[in-house]
Amino acid sequence: MLHSLSTLTSLVQDISRAENAVAAMRQIVVKLTELFSVPVCSLYLKSSSEQRLVLAATAGLADVAVGKVSLALNEGLVGKIGRTLHPLNLADAPTHDKFVFIPETHEAPYHQFMGVPLIHLRELIGVLVIQGTEQQRFSQDAEAFMVTIASQLAGTLQSIQRSGAWLPQQPTTQEVDRYSGVKSAPGIGCGRLEVLHLNLSLQDITQQRSTSIDAELTRFESAVARLKDELSLGASRLGDSLPSDVANLFSVYLMMLQSPELHDRTVQQIRQGFKASWGLRETVEELAGAFDQATDPYLRARGEDIRNIGNRLLRHMLSKNPLETASEQRELVLASDLISIADLSIYRPEQIKGIICTAGSALSHTGIVANALGIPAVMGVSSLDLKKFDGEEVVVDGYRGECILHPSPTLLTEYRRLQHADAQFIDQLACLRDLPAETRDGVRVQLLTNTGLLADVTPGRKHGAEGVGLYRSEIPFMLHDSFPTEDEQYEIYRQVLSAYSPLPVSMRTLDIGGDKQLPYFEIREDNPFLGWRGIRFTLDNTSLLVTQLRAMLRANVDNDNLRLLIPMVSRIDELQTFVHIVDDTLEELQSEGVAVVRPPIGMMVEVPSAVLLLPRMLKYVDYVSIGSNDLTQYLLAVDRNNPKVSALFDNLNPVMLVALEQIVAHTRAANVPLALCGEMASDPAAVLLLLGMGLRSLSLSAHSIPKIKWLIRSVNFTDAQALLHKAQNLASEVEIRALMSEELKRLGLKNLSGPEPVAIV
Ligand code: PEP
Ligand code: MG
Repeated sequence: MLHSLSTLTSLVQDISRAENAVAAMRQIVVKLTELFSVPVCSLYLKSSSEQRLVLAATAGLADVAVGKVSLALNEGLVGKIGRTLHPLNLADAPTHDKFVFIPETHEAPYHQFMGVPLIHLRELIGVLVIQGTEQQRFSQDAEAFMVTIASQLAGTLQSIQRSGAWLPQQPTTQEVDRYSGVKSAPGIGCGRLEVLHLNLSLQDITQQRSTSIDAELTRFESAVARLKDELSLGASRLGDSLPSDVANLFSVYLMMLQSPELHDRTVQQIRQGFKASWGLRETVEELAGAFDQATDPYLRARGEDIRNIGNRLLRHMLSKNPLETASEQRELVLASDLISIADLSIYRPEQIKGIICTAGSALSHTGIVANALGIPAVMGVSSLDLKKFDGEEVVVDGYRGECILHPSPTLLTEYRRLQHADAQFIDQLACLRDLPAETRDGVRVQLLTNTGLLADVTPGRKHGAEGVGLYRSEIPFMLHDSFPTEDEQYEIYRQVLSAYSPLPVSMRTLDIGGDKQLPYFEIREDNPFLGWRGIRFTLDNTSLLVTQLRAMLRANVDNDNLRLLIPMVSRIDELQTFVHIVDDTLEELQSEGVAVVRPPIGMMVEVPSAVLLLPRMLKYVDYVSIGSNDLTQYLLAVDRNNPKVSALFDNLNPVMLVALEQIVAHTRAANVPLALCGEMASDPAAVLLLLGMGLRSLSLSAHSIPKIKWLIRSVNFTDAQALLHKAQNLASEVEIRALMSEELKRLGLKNLSGPEPVAIV
């Protein structure tokens, strides 16, 4: 038995390359019988509707039992494991009092039994079982390895289990793949999946058939032509400056590329109905495999050359030019592990119908930008193998945090209908643009917008923002390829300030670090969220801060609506130093003859120490803005970007209510204006509580303003206060959310959280 980590890694990789869910499960059970040298391995998955463990794949038991045999939780040994969530390792299973004999499986001769639960993010996915004929328990070593395997496979198996594609009695669901992630930006979007940063090698290619043989042949032939040009160009450009044996490599590669074996065999595979990439993989493996056997090291190296050529051909076959795609009319859903703001900026905003990230979570900055641009986004879809689905039709449901691959025509029509209804609903709210956000009993709330992209300035004005509550100045820094100069910054800030003048604009100084990295200034830290972030970074790089302040103050000369905002404040002396630097900069500019005025200075409260020190900090600032995203992260010690703990990240956790109340009380006592600019301000449930608490200024993404205004205009402040008192007595965010969603339903505001889910039909 091979208990090595590399075995495990290769098992996980093989599965991710499998053609479909059934093939992946089959690979798991077959591979495990080999690894443990046992005759039987079976996989049971929990059916979501009936809470039963259904035999989903087996190697060794009767195939006819697959999909038919099932056990209730606590029924039989498998059901017992499902109920207790604990492994069972038995020498003689039939003598156990929980054993039930299931004739369809033909399992009579097996005594040795080991089963482990498959659990992902606290949820039971299924049970994995191995059986043998001997009458002794499996070794401790084997048990530990089985538990490790189960924990590694649980994530992948969860997506299979949720898709329902493994249930044979539902053949119509087989073509639909539904993947869950974390809701990041609301809305529904449909389009063609455009995977960014796709860096594939032949090893990643899975067997896929194509119905369009001609298109696949053209794809292959044009990749050959492009690689030929590339090699010829390389040979002529570098040939003279290279030693002759290295220069000869170009001609060897060219010969290989044009060899009839490589060409004709690939064409033959394509003509048999396979995709060009799979045909190429098969051909290259066959040709290179023959050289692998050679004893002569020179010949063995030829195998590597063939693979090299194959991989280069593959990249040409799959390569895309984002600028070309961006110029097309097609509707796209962009996907990658993480998508940077620079990636987004290549495409036209109206072309991007959705965003999917396999990493990240609701509040990663990609999500924040998606919100700002009104693009539905789902983050942390870790079980989705993007390579498999590049170019295919996909639906992004940002309300429920789901992506649906291969939607059937009926399903697609339904999602498009919802998309349309949602857009109509938002259009209907346009009539509120010039009306105040005021409760029925006369409490007025100021609605500002969060921005950072120039493209985002217009939506804010269009939706009636009363100013900018948070301008994330790091966003233009992220779009540059070096630190922007004072004049470059000046030009950007001037445009933002004048777009809103005379309405106020809170410009936050550079807040990089954490998940906000600049492509040209890498900060490598083990704990970036506890490291060189925000004000800590800029105070240590004073000249950067001074340059930025100069640009902001100068841009304010003709507008007079600038307010400065300091990110990530955690110490009193940070405020003292910042204020000092602002005063020095003002003096310097005045001495240069620039007519600058001192703008109001505000601080973000987003670190627990700032909540506790607030009464002593307030004397240095003119206003306070709560950064609820980071405040939640730091109060709960839950990384805002980690999908594994995203279920624990909730702004409505009781501790947030306690902290927010303290902030309200401290600022009120000192008569310092207070706003909130985290994503909490776009969450209808949270807004009701904030209203009840006394917050009167919220800053949110432009696209969320109409809905939140409608909410505020539909409720009474006194009702919000009563709700807050109820919520304050509840023990968890789950209970608080349940209370709030009941209330939203009662008020007839249910559609603020999006349309009803669409069932797969
Ligand atoms: C916050 O932390 O709530 C906030 C508004 O700042 P950012 O999301 O940019 O860190
Ligand atoms: Mg923050």
